[in-house]
Amino acid sequence: MLVTSENSRVHVLNPLVAERIAAGEVIERPASVVKELVENSLDAGATEVAVVLEDGGKGLIEVLDNGHGIYRDDLKVCIQRHATSKLSSLDDLEKISTLGFRGEALPSIGAVADLTLLSKVEKADTSYQLHIHSMQADPEPQAVTFGHFLSSSHGTRIQARGLFSQVPARLKFLKSQAAEVGQVREWIERLALAHPQVGFQLVSDGRSVLKLRPQDEVARVKAILSDGDNYPVVSANNDLGFRDREKGYLHIRAHWLQGLSSPQTRRVLQVVNGRSVRDRLLQQAILSAFRQALLPGQFPAIAVYIEMDPAQLDVNVHPTKTEIRFLDSRKIFHAVETLISSMIEKNGAPAFVPSRSWGAAEPAPAFSFAAPPTMSQPLASQSFGYARSTEVQNRPDSQEATSSQAAKLGLTPERFMGTSFNTYLFYDLGEELALIDQHAAHERIRYEKLKHRATGSAIRQTTQALLLPEAVHFESEKRSVLEDRVSWLTALGFEVEIFGEDTLLFRAIPGEWGAYELRTRLKNLVERITELDSGTTLPQVLMDESLFEKLASEACHSAIRAGDRLERLEALELVEQLFRCEHPWNCPHGRPTVARIPKGKIEEWFLRRV
Ligand code: ADP
Ligand code: MG
Repeated sequence: MLVTSENSRVHVLNPLVAERIAAGEVIERPASVVKELVENSLDAGATEVAVVLEDGGKGLIEVLDNGHGIYRDDLKVCIQRHATSKLSSLDDLEKISTLGFRGEALPSIGAVADLTLLSKVEKADTSYQLHIHSMQADPEPQAVTFGHFLSSSHGTRIQARGLFSQVPARLKFLKSQAAEVGQVREWIERLALAHPQVGFQLVSDGRSVLKLRPQDEVARVKAILSDGDNYPVVSANNDLGFRDREKGYLHIRAHWLQGLSSPQTRRVLQVVNGRSVRDRLLQQAILSAFRQALLPGQFPAIAVYIEMDPAQLDVNVHPTKTEIRFLDSRKIFHAVETLISSMIEKNGAPAFVPSRSWGAAEPAPAFSFAAPPTMSQPLASQSFGYARSTEVQNRPDSQEATSSQAAKLGLTPERFMGTSFNTYLFYDLGEELALIDQHAAHERIRYEKLKHRATGSAIRQTTQALLLPEAVHFESEKRSVLEDRVSWLTALGFEVEIFGEDTLLFRAIPGEWGAYELRTRLKNLVERITELDSGTTLPQVLMDESLFEKLASEACHSAIRAGDRLERLEALELVEQLFRCEHPWNCPHGRPTVARIPKGKIEEWFLRRV
């Protein structure tokens, strides 16, 4: 405790200390400096922004723009706390359209780095520069001349040097140079996504890391989300009340890279009123719509843009403004989820886009399984959708599903053309060919049956008694684990008991397990079950699809294989069963079950179309 005099403990902090503490809220790492400076450039109407880093941003962070510039007299003002040109009254906050408004960025950066501002406003003959050495008092702008601002006659260049060199506590928390550059890049990409009409560049230690030309929204989404591969983009918007921006307007656009999914949510991006945000609620709304289309643990590549009445939104929740608050969050959730669900329904399964064309080694946009525009007519009524009825979803065994989902998709017996390579089932859908991988389809069906049995939601459970029990040995030190886990096996549909010190005796197996190489598969199953962490419980396994998959994967080995010849009726039954599954579009390992070739593509191959 600091005691300054006998009858007092409280004192006002030295401004330098206060500034550095306050700066900590806004400036955490080089990426936060870049974010704040680039936001200022965007607020200044820049159409080109360049970011230069040295030593991951610790040496130098420079942001160069062709925005409207800063007047000479404002240079001194804008580095003061709460100095801003973007708002003057509290009412303005209701209709804020700029990214910044708190007047905190420049003073915060100035508190933790040496700052140089260089700016030229339109039609001025000279540019002015201001240099402040980590919060020195009252510096004077000096006139300087300089060359080009990204081929513009006006603009601003801001340099921050020696970030955190006076704040060792913060310096310590910085990650490797590559990691810091990665975060800077990620921020620039997020800002770029929100401002496709602006060109961006990132140069790190003289190397160009990112270069984005001004482009339209879809092209920008593709550029940022696709990693350079050519994925089809499906777009949707809710077409509501945008035109006249009346009170309470809410316009949503979504652009989805149909073929791409990944194990992280990194590619789920949100832009609200030009601000790139990470809002939990929005994220949940988006992912909830995808639940039926993607495997658990897989996330889509999608950008969702929301333009809404700023009065319905609080952007001032967080100093860095990455969090927002919606006045009517249920309305937003519902609107986003509905839009995206119907987009998925209209456009079908996450398409499978092979990276190589047939034979040729170059990437093949020519062979895309995107739901093609040609699909919409006359197949709209039977376009690929999802098993919506929960009854059908939860009961893959159910035979009584009246109008089958397969038929709704056009996969009717009349359209079945046969099989090829003893592997693919062919359907002529009028405007496209559908191919179903029989092995992947069967894996999916078995997998869901097992799962429904284990979760107790199957209607019928068939067990297959073994004429001779199968004995599987285990290492005797695993005995206590196995004692606990015999009940898991029972839940999965096995009749099994521990016999002696080191043997499991299987007397019956689940109907869907099949007899093929049974012994080996049982051995593998026992191995997998003992490998799981000792703390793991059955409910955990059932909840976690990847854990469950480890156990159930043995069931897949008995699935119909590629190369097995299927009779017509078997094939038709397989397809029926596939589309009674909860996730018909992928096998449990994530490979697609269905591929579609638009007629137009085939016409291209035969040069009927140019
Ligand atoms: P805020 O963005 O919240 O207003 P900042 O501290 O980020 O606060 O910036 C203070 C002011 O400096 C801004 O309001 C703006 O007028 C001016 N400014 C900062 N950067 C630029 C820039 N690149 N171009 C033009 N003006 C800028
Ligand atoms: Mg700002």
